[in-house]
Amino acid sequence: MSRFRLQPTRAQEAALLEHCGHARYVWNLAVEQHAHWQRGRKSAPGFAEQCRQLTEARAEFAWLRGGSIIVQQQALKDFAQAMANFFGTTHRKPTWRKRGRGEGFRIVAFKPGDVRRVSRNVGEVRIPKVGWVRFRWSRPVGDDVRSYRVTRDRAGRWHVAFASLPEPVPAPGSGEVVGVDRGVAVSAALSTGELLNAPTLRGAEKTRLLRLQRKLARAKRESNRRGMVKAAIAKLKAREADRRKDWVEKTSTGLARRFDVIAVEDLKIGNMTRSAKGTVEAPGRNVRQKAGLNRGILAAGWGRLVERLEQKAPGRVQKIDPRYTSQTCNACKHLAGESRESQALFLCVACGHRAHADVNAAKNVRDTAAGHAVAARGGFGLPEPVNREPQRDLLLVG
Ligand SMILES: [Zn+2]
Repeated sequence: MSRFRLQPTRAQEAALLEHCGHARYVWNLAVEQHAHWQRGRKSAPGFAEQCRQLTEARAEFAWLRGGSIIVQQQALKDFAQAMANFFGTTHRKPTWRKRGRGEGFRIVAFKPGDVRRVSRNVGEVRIPKVGWVRFRWSRPVGDDVRSYRVTRDRAGRWHVAFASLPEPVPAPGSGEVVGVDRGVAVSAALSTGELLNAPTLRGAEKTRLLRLQRKLARAKRESNRRGMVKAAIAKLKAREADRRKDWVEKTSTGLARRFDVIAVEDLKIGNMTRSAKGTVEAPGRNVRQKAGLNRGILAAGWGRLVERLEQKAPGRVQKIDPRYTSQTCNACKHLAGESRESQALFLCVACGHRAHADVNAAKNVRDTAAGHAVAARGGFGLPEPVNREPQRDLLLVG
C-alpha cells in the first residue's frame, strides 16, 4: 500500500465528500441489517441480496442514484469482507461509521491509464464521477496496482492509497524458524530475544496531547476554539497512526527476509479486547488493568502485522494455538500458571528458569511451529490457562 497526499480542488472535494457519504450510508445500512439479524430474525442478507436492495434503493432515491454505483457496491463488498474477517476472528465486528471519522471509499475497477504523472511532483488519478484529481507524486506508483482507496482523516487531509499485493519477500533459505509473541510488556517479542515496540507519540508530543485534551474538556461546545483544539488533536493522532503503519511495514519485511518460517500466535484479538468488561454476573477481573493492556494490543496493530506477514511471506506464516505458551517454561517445559511472576517476568517454579515473559512465550511459539510439543508434561489436572485466553462464554456478553 503506498499512500499519497491528495490535493482536490474545492469542487472536487465536495464530490469526494459525496462519495464518502454514500459509502458510509450503504455501509451503515448493512450494519443495521446485521444488527437486526442478531436479534433473532431469519437471516441477514448476503452480498448478492444487498446488491439487489441497493439497486432498489437507487431507483427510489435520486440522491443515491446520482452517486457512483462503483463506490456504493464496493462499500457493500468491504462490509462483506469485514464480516468475513469478524467470523474468522481476526478482526473486530464492523460497526457504524460516523461522519467525519475515517471517511473513505474504495475503487477497484482500476486500469493502468487511471493514473498519470503530470510533472515532477504532481500526479493525477482518475476517480469515477469526479475526474482527474491531483496528488503529490512523492514516489513512484507501482505498476501492479489493483485498486485504490481515498480517505479523509480527522484532520481533514485527503489521501489516496494505491493497493497492490506486496511483492513476496524471498525466503533466506536458512530453515530458521522465528516465534513472535504478541507481547504484553512490549509490542512484540521474538524468540531471538529481540523486543520490538511500535512507535507511539514522543514525550513532548504526549505532553502536548494531554494539554490539548484538557483544553478540549474546558472549551465550550460549538465554539471556534473547540474546533481548533479538535483539529490539533486529530493531527497528532494521525501522526501516530502514520508511524505505526510504517513500523508494521518495516517489521513485516524484516521478518520475512530474515526467517524461513514465522510462527505467530493465533490469538483472537477481538475476544481479548472485549474480555475485560465481563458481565454483570461475572465481572471481568482486573478490569482497569486489562483495559490498559487491551489498548496496548490494539495500539500495536497486531492484526495488520500478521496480515502483512502473510502477504509478504505467503505460505511461510504459521499460526499457533496460544494456550499455554505464556505459562510453559521454555527450558524444562514445566507448565504452571504461577510461573508467570508478572506481566514482564517469567520465573519457572520447577527449574528456576528466569526470562522475559514475552520472549519465553515467543520461544514456545517457535518450538511449537518447529514440531516440539509445548506443555509436554500436560495431561489431567492441568491448571486453567491464565490471562491469555479469556473464557468466551463468561466474557463475551456486554
Ligand atoms: Zn523450568
